Amino acid sequence: MTTTAPGVDDGALDLLRAAVRGRVLTPADADWGAAHLPWNVAVPQRPVAVVEVADAADVAAAVRWAREHGHAVTAQPRGHGATTALDGAVLLRTAALDEVWVDVEARVARVGAGVRWGEFLPALDGTGLVAMVGSNPDVSMVGYLLGGGFSWFGRAHGYAAHGLRAAEVVDAEGTLRWVTDESDPDLMWALRGGGGDLAIVTRVEIDLHPAAGLVGGSMTFPIQDARAVWGAFLEASRSAPRELTLWSSLMHFPDVPFLPEPIRGRSFVTVASTFLGSVEEAERLLAPIRAAGTVLDGRVAEVPIGRVGEVAAEPTEPTPSIDWAMLLSDLDAGTLDRLIEVAGDRDRTALVAVQLRHLGGAFAEGPDGDRAAGAVADRISEPFLVWALGIPMVPELVGPIQGSLAALEAAVAPEATGRTPLTLLPGGEDLGRVFDDASLARLRALKASRDPSAVIRGNHPLLEA
Ligand SMILES: Cc1cc2nc3c(=O)[nH]c(=O)nc-3n(C[C@H](O)[C@H](O)[C@H](O)COP(=O)(O)OP(=O)(O)OC[C@H]3O[C@@H](n4cnc5c(N)ncnc54)[C@H](O)[C@@H]3O)c2cc1C
Repeated sequence: MTTTAPGVDDGALDLLRAAVRGRVLTPADADWGAAHLPWNVAVPQRPVAVVEVADAADVAAAVRWAREHGHAVTAQPRGHGATTALDGAVLLRTAALDEVWVDVEARVARVGAGVRWGEFLPALDGTGLVAMVGSNPDVSMVGYLLGGGFSWFGRAHGYAAHGLRAAEVVDAEGTLRWVTDESDPDLMWALRGGGGDLAIVTRVEIDLHPAAGLVGGSMTFPIQDARAVWGAFLEASRSAPRELTLWSSLMHFPDVPFLPEPIRGRSFVTVASTFLGSVEEAERLLAPIRAAGTVLDGRVAEVPIGRVGEVAAEPTEPTPSIDWAMLLSDLDAGTLDRLIEVAGDRDRTALVAVQLRHLGGAFAEGPDGDRAAGAVADRISEPFLVWALGIPMVPELVGPIQGSLAALEAAVAPEATGRTPLTLLPGGEDLGRVFDDASLARLRALKASRDPSAVIRGNHPLLEA
């Protein structure tokens, strides 16, 4: 066997190249680095080949090829959810699946599997409609929806995946088909939050939501105000209407030359918010938080939906990251104090951000009656989520970041339910942290019946390797 890609013989690769219109790359190619590296460059994933699919027919051809040659196929549009669980698989890059179609009157959109939130949302500017975007515009819509999708507007409309109306998929047989609640209720239930292990999705049809307005912004305070600001954040979240979403963070910016001087090497507490309504009403709701400390920067204004990514202002360039998230059954002053103690002092933590997200509202309810098949990402009863991020710019930072995450986990232990939404679950973690026993058993039974030889592999495989 001659090979330019360990694990695949060149004859089989030639057949793959002949079967698809898009580029097929292996470690022998000069472009291999850029082609196979994920957004989270800290994950050393090792696919055997990359296919830059040209269209949905290429996806089907790649799956049929993998089936015939005993390989696995995985779609990775961006790689925010990179894991080594993808090692040995053929990686499909979906950027060319770039369809964006919006029907404003029917409040429906169709998007291809390569479309990022930041590429889609400007199509809604001026329509009075919003879609269920999360904090980061660089994330692919399909990858996010398959994981359930934890949106700014989840308090008003629940998991983003509840808005999944239909999907075009390639199944493990390599057949391209359009699925709906009527044609394949089991698969639709699983696609609404069960991850990418059951089918390669080539496009989706989603709900859009009317909004009375969209206001967003972030208030920044000195880190010394953390106790007062978090106290006010907690108080405001207790009475917040569903249209208001509050996320508050402790931020420690590293002392590196590429950061602007006002933030470089400094620490802050921030409260980022969106409100589906007027600026006046948003300001009224935010006033007690604004009054809790010294506002260094406090712009809250109308935002076009196309620019909602600026509210959280997260990095969009490839970034090495180690993150961790946990749902909390409650939050009180004692927990806030413990969190500030372990993560509020930059000399004591290697984390760059520790964020509290207020949930509740429609998150605590299941999908509405329009979704006959239901959703495996059903509801979140916990009212808060804590999420933390470390950026290991050098390998020596990995240990300290893990140590800081362990301290954080200990700080929230009394309120931690052990549960995490799938999009925020680190690779290799137990799916029992996401799904209840019955849902996980149903997902696994579906995988075993539809794809027993695991031709399709998501970043959280349902069956043991
Ligand atoms: C800075 C940052 C902020 C984030 N904020 C949020 C947030 O606010 N809310 C939230 O819910 N999540 C959030 N996430 C998590 C993010 O939604 C997930 O990482 C998600 O997997 C999508 O990222 P991606 O497009 O890079 O997917 P990738 O990492 O490229 O893919 C992840 C997995 O999705 C599946 N998948 C993707 N496309 C397909 C497809 N076409 N067919 C079948 N399976 C597919 C595969 O299993 C794949 O391994 C955030 C992540 C980061 C790094």
